[in-house]
Amino acid sequence: MKKEGISFEGKNVLVTGGAGFLGSWICDVLVHQGAKVTCVDNFASGLAKNIEHLKIKFIEHDISKPIEFDEKFDLVMHLASRASPFEFARYPIQILKANTLGIWVALGIAKKHKARFLYTSTSEIYGDPDPRFIPTPESYNGNVNPTGPRSCYDEAKRAGEAFVKAYELQHGMDTRIVRIFNTYGPRMRAGDIYGRVVSRFIEQALSGKPITVFGGGSQTRSFTYVTDEIEGILRLAALDEAEGEVVNIGSDKETSILELAKMIKKLTNSPSEIVFQPLPKDDPRRRCPDITKAKKLLKWKPGVSLEEGLRKTIAWYEANL
Ligand code: UDP
Repeated sequence: MKKEGISFEGKNVLVTGGAGFLGSWICDVLVHQGAKVTCVDNFASGLAKNIEHLKIKFIEHDISKPIEFDEKFDLVMHLASRASPFEFARYPIQILKANTLGIWVALGIAKKHKARFLYTSTSEIYGDPDPRFIPTPESYNGNVNPTGPRSCYDEAKRAGEAFVKAYELQHGMDTRIVRIFNTYGPRMRAGDIYGRVVSRFIEQALSGKPITVFGGGSQTRSFTYVTDEIEGILRLAALDEAEGEVVNIGSDKETSILELAKMIKKLTNSPSEIVFQPLPKDDPRRRCPDITKAKKLLKWKPGVSLEEGLRKTIAWYEANL
């Protein structure tokens, strides 16, 4: 990760959801850069093994419930939330709570400590974007079904953004919102309800099971390798000039799901067949960020190609599945 222009040396940072896929990577980099890290996680979807190698303070707690701290934080990063569409069906209330009550608790801590606040929002707040707005800029307001199967996540994240803006307006807080696009890499869960398309396809390919493409596979996502995503998030958290900003962080290369399935089959040398299953309701047809703002404001752009990132991820699953 480029250190130019950003530093967390000596900073006291609270990371909610710090045992999750992205949260644990953030804790890793913060510790590496000399920050003192406190992680709060209730292991809803996070895993103890993601952080057990780290020298951090860990508190097992559901952030949607109040909590007090003795030390003073410089930065609060709110990541806690389930994020897999399969979890939307099983835990919609917890997802809503993590991004409404949870962000309210986290913002309250930042307010009390006069800390900077970063919220990890999502490309999901754009819903199923009007094709005229792809690549999607931060100014696009979205096309979201408020009562659909994904609403517990996308509407909760939209509410989370509104909470951030309300605290900024009413209490003059220093806040930042990152809209994260589909991120993949080591530590992403593959099984059960936690798997996302990349981890599921790799797990299926490595174990010789059918690779399950939903719909015809023409829907697209823009896949970002985890180190690129984390670098963008931390640059947004660190740079003074990013105060109050909302920024897309993701790859600007759109890939269809069928193309992804074929790539993973090839890179794993897998005998698995590609099978087609019904497309879930409200599955966004295309997703690709406009990253002009991130390039200009954060001097950030993704550096890892999909093939390179998939190779690294496959190697990790081979060693860890
Ligand atoms: N998908 C798929 N097969 C799977 C899992 C997901 O074809 O086994 C598709 C899903 O329908 C969506 C895309 O892959 O179009 C990305 O799904 P993911 O769960 O990773 O996250 P999303 O971007 O939808 O939140």
